[in-house]
Formats: sequence, structure tokens, C-alpha cells
Amino acid sequence: MRSAHPDGTRVRVGGVEVGGRGFVVMAGPCAVEGAEQLELSARAVAHAGAHLLRGGVFKPRTSPYAFQGMGEPGLKLLVDAGRRHGLPIISEVMETEQLPLMAQHADILQVGARNMQNFGLLRALGRLRKPVLLKRGLSATVQEWLNAAEYILAGGNEQVILCERGIRTFETAMRNTLDLAAVAWAKEKSHLPVIVDPSHATGIPSLIAPMSLAAAAAGADGLLIEVHARPEQALCDGQQALSPEDFASLMRRLPGVLAAVDRHLWTPAGPAQIAGAR
Ligand code: PEP
Ligand code: MN
Repeated sequence: MRSAHPDGTRVRVGGVEVGGRGFVVMAGPCAVEGAEQLELSARAVAHAGAHLLRGGVFKPRTSPYAFQGMGEPGLKLLVDAGRRHGLPIISEVMETEQLPLMAQHADILQVGARNMQNFGLLRALGRLRKPVLLKRGLSATVQEWLNAAEYILAGGNEQVILCERGIRTFETAMRNTLDLAAVAWAKEKSHLPVIVDPSHATGIPSLIAPMSLAAAAAGADGLLIEVHARPEQALCDGQQALSPEDFASLMRRLPGVLAAVDRHLWTPAGPAQIAGAR
């Protein structure tokens, strides 16, 4: 509960802090597909100013016949790309059995929407001392989302970040419905950092920038965005991936909105350095 931690929890990940005044952007492809694809995408997001590199190696696909991710070899590529570009990495863990490998190499363990109430997995994550990004379930209420986070916190792991990624509603024009009020609500009720994934929330590249700016204005602590060097060739979620150019353009527009809500893009130096004051 927020009242128990009035200053809010800050999650430290490889020198980056999520939950303070600094706004943190995690970006990269939906899935790691190969060395070249990952390198081009990682280079693009690093140059544009992203703070973490994302990339799924275990993919929760709707069809069992769709590309399921590269597994361990993909994780090695992700680790190497993160090191090359100086970015900590975030990747999804789908099953408890994957935890030893993922916990050893990933800087943030992502729990996908479909696993939000996988209580065995949540309990196992609670026993670790590693940052966890908990996505909101496709049909989960905000209270169920916070209760799921509680399973991790109750085990003693306090490094939890919440992620709103859109929910199922009667609306079909977009992949999901981005619930920005849930972000403001979660920030009010919970002490945990809350970030927004506008990629899965909309499924439409042209909506990602406006929803990212809106998320920043609504008080989110960061973003998780899918960026692919060649979206048309992607093996997973290419139709919603931002091109490197569109991602760079969004990164240039974020500081203006953040300044209006007394925030700034995260930098190691902190706000004083950016403002050139104090
Ligand atoms: C993802 O981040 O690629 C993903 C599968 O997201 P979600 O769990 O929100 O569908
Ligand atoms: Mn995806």
C-alpha cells in the first residue's frame, strides 16, 4: 500500500533507477530472432536514448505453431547486445523451470500478461532478489493486478515494477484498450513503479507515440516499447513494431511532456545536471 511507503519503491537495475523522477524507456524487438536483427535493433534503440534493451527469448504465442522464441541461444545474443550497447536487458520468463537461467542473465524478469496469475511462478519470483516486471493480465482488474504483485512482495522480493499493457474490452479497432486511468490509480494505491506498454496496448504503430506521451503525462514511470530494425520482416509482432526512425522521433518528444509533469528522461546524472542548475 502507498501509505506504507509514501516515497514509493525505486527499483535499481544495472545503474538505472525506475520509480524516481527519472522516466525510464525499455525498447527492442518483441523477440530475439538472430544476431543481425538484434544488433540493428539494439543499436537503434541505444542511439535514440533507450535505457534498457527488451527482447523475448521464450515467447507466449497464441498458436503453438507460431515462432516460440530462440530460447537459451537467444538469451546469449541479448546479453551480448546489451553489453555492447551498455544497456541492461529485460526478457520474459514463462515457467518456473526457466528461472535459474533467466535470473542469471536478465536484469529484469518480465512476467507476461498471460502469466499474471501463475501463482507458482510469482511465488518463485518472490524468493529471488531480482527486479520483476509484472504485466497486467488481459482481463485482470486493477485489484487483481496489485494482488498478483503482492505474491512476489510477500516472498521478500520488493523489486517489482507494474506494467499496464492494455486489457480486453468490447473495442476491436485496436489490439487492446489502454487503461491509463489504471496507471494513475496504481500510482495512487501502490508504492510500486508503474510503466506502460503502448505496443501491445494498441497494436498500431501510429498510436504508440501519442499513447506514450499520454502515459508520461498520466504519471507513468516509464515505457516498454517494441522496436524492430525491419518491422516488415519480424517473426513476432512486426505489425506493431516501431521503426528506428519513429522511435527516435518519440524519444525527442518525450522530454517536453515530462517537463510539464516535473519529470525528465532518466540520466545517470539526475535532474540537476539536465537543468544545468543546482
Ligand atoms: C511481450 O512483451 O512481447 C508480450 C508477450 O507481452 P504481453 O504479455 O503483454 O502480451
Ligand atoms: Mn510482443
